[in-house]
Amino acid sequence: MAKIFCVANQKGGVGKTTTTVNLAAGLAKVGQRVLMIDLDPQGNATMGSGVDKRQLELTVYDVLLESASIAEARAQSDKLKDGGCSYDILGANRELAGAEVELVEVERRERRLKQALAVVDAEYDFVLIDCPPSLSMLTLNGLCCAHGVIVPMQCEYFALEGLTDLVNTIKQVKANLNDDLQIIGLLRVMFDPRITLQQQVSDQLKAHFSDKVFDTVIPRNVRLAEAPSYGVPGVVFDPSSKGAQAFVTFAQEMVDRIKAM
Ligand code: ATP
Ligand code: MG
Repeated sequence: MAKIFCVANQKGGVGKTTTTVNLAAGLAKVGQRVLMIDLDPQGNATMGSGVDKRQLELTVYDVLLESASIAEARAQSDKLKDGGCSYDILGANRELAGAEVELVEVERRERRLKQALAVVDAEYDFVLIDCPPSLSMLTLNGLCCAHGVIVPMQCEYFALEGLTDLVNTIKQVKANLNDDLQIIGLLRVMFDPRITLQQQVSDQLKAHFSDKVFDTVIPRNVRLAEAPSYGVPGVVFDPSSKGAQAFVTFAQEMVDRIKAM
């Protein structure tokens, strides 16, 4: 049975997609079978995994509307294969924005992804879901099927404020829809140790959330930011870069945490 994780934070641009694709590649690199699901109509995780969102005939949209199964809609990327970090991709594009409205009428609409995943679950060790920057029906579908949430965050002054909303949403979903759900961990990303404020917020995070803060810290690293324009995760684009190495270390930390779960 796969362990299913949402990468979520309703704040925009905090590093969700970068975390999702690089963790997926890192897990593949350490021998795990991974499915990456793009739940964001922006389709950045799809493009950043070497799949052209404009060319996709079937996406997660079709899966949510039950016009395709995951087995039919998933894709692979030669770029990932060549990089030795292959994972399956359930892609997204602009069409997904319509799902929000189209799902309003249907029953058990927040469980569509969960039902679809149950069929392919056994084929993977990890399923990673890249959520959009909102607490919408799409994010809810992700939270409903997940065992846990990975929360990437920048160590900035307002980071803790946004966290309260996310923690409350997760509590509500846990109480009403998915008793398994928990925050697996807070991942400090785009970290620059030379900035005193970041060090202070990082210390505060550890004081408040103790072992919910991952040991691995992802540094600010330009190679991670450059990789998407080549359609690959940083882990594939430049494996020797500090950012890529940090994500492979993080992948191993996730594998170890799962064993302890
Ligand atoms: P959105 O909310 O729009 O979905 P997001 O939370 O998915 O955004 P990303 O797209 O992963 O955030 O990252 C935002 C920007 O920061 C991107 O340009 C990305 O390349 C860059 N970035 C992310 N992580 C790092 C890092 N560790 N070092 C340098 N740049 C980074
Ligand atoms: Mg994103």
